[in-house]
Amino acid sequence: MLKEARYCANTSQSLKKASDKRKVHDLENEKTQCQIDKIRGAGHTKWYDSLSEAYRDGYANCHWCLGVAMSGRRGGRRGVTS
Ligand SMILES: [Zn+2]
Repeated sequence: MLKEARYCANTSQSLKKASDKRKVHDLENEKTQCQIDKIRGAGHTKWYDSLSEAYRDGYANCHWCLGVAMSGRRGGRRGVTS
């Protein structure tokens, strides 16, 4: 199995877009925009079984797979940053 844990944090500090930094992804809801393969290919991964652990380490939700807000399950709210 390739999946080490459910949540994958991107530890890279050198990505071009600031919005791509220090994000944690939910592999059960992975989107192409997450570029998980790229992150893993570069070895910039840290795995978590729970989101709270990732938050404690300073990671923020990837807005593609986890959404911006923790509260509720609205899902329709989109912050377009481009
Ligand atoms: Zn993601």
